[in-house]
Amino acid sequence: MNAITSSDLVLALDFGGTKLAAAVVELESGQMASPVIRLATPAEQGAQSSLQAMIAAGNEALAGINDPSQVKAVGISFGGPVSGDRRTVLCSNHVSQWDNFPLADTVAEAFKRPAVMENDANAAALGHWWYGDRHQAQDYLYVQVSTGVGAGIVLGGELYRGGALAGEFGHTIIDPQGPKCSCGRYGCLESLCSGWAIARDGREILQKDPAGNPILAGQCGGNVRQVSAQMVFEACRQGEEASAKVVERALFSLGIALVNSISLLDPQKVALGGGITRSSDMLERYLYPVLKKWIQPFFEDRYQLDISTLEGQETLLGAALLARDL
Ligand SMILES: [Zn+2]
Repeated sequence: MNAITSSDLVLALDFGGTKLAAAVVELESGQMASPVIRLATPAEQGAQSSLQAMIAAGNEALAGINDPSQVKAVGISFGGPVSGDRRTVLCSNHVSQWDNFPLADTVAEAFKRPAVMENDANAAALGHWWYGDRHQAQDYLYVQVSTGVGAGIVLGGELYRGGALAGEFGHTIIDPQGPKCSCGRYGCLESLCSGWAIARDGREILQKDPAGNPILAGQCGGNVRQVSAQMVFEACRQGEEASAKVVERALFSLGIALVNSISLLDPQKVALGGGITRSSDMLERYLYPVLKKWIQPFFEDRYQLDISTLEGQETLLGAALLARDL
């Protein structure tokens, strides 16, 4: 087949642990050429039902443009580690039956187009670096804090993959005495600062002392199981002390992880994306002072911190960009 050029259209698929998304993307501009189809991952029914739902979503996106024959390839982002050759899913922490699944070939066959895959943090990093930063920084760290935590690293203008799994930022250990992580170990960044970790801490404080946390209790309508990270942020914002402590610990942990990464990589830019960017007031109050206090002084003026403004489309955009390698 002919090489993909920047004027081509690409179908981008984003397999998240909780959400699926599909859209046709115009590579040159990074504009969505079709409506973005979003749906909840049918996680309980395993890999096959996610795959079937995604194929339907992809076909719906293709049907949303005038001439689907212009779509030359499929780029896939997957929420979990993928093999070094970017063809096979290694596993998923969120959905069963993905182990060693040949996703790129399966998708290529379903859409009758070549397909390539990358893990979601790398895809998001690529999407933000290319369309958010306009690939100005040669050494670039992108950190995404949503339900989980991931990072992608660009070194010398290329995505750095290590053997295959580089950028497992969420599972760098910040506090070995800390809470249990989704990976089974203790005190990883993700166990301290992620959507699920902050929601867990919120549930804990509410279970311990419902009367002492009326704002948080009001946020979740008294149903402890409904507590989300956003609710804890809101209770903190409104001055509730226990929620403020949760947010402070979470963003302190993120700050320390960022400081360590900056010492390791000396990046020109560090970009933050994901749900956490909706709480810029909390970042200002609890994250930036940590960076200022803990970073080695000679690094302070060497990097720029960017907050993503791509509104959650980094991953789809990055998935689309992968097709350039086909
Ligand atoms: Zn972990």
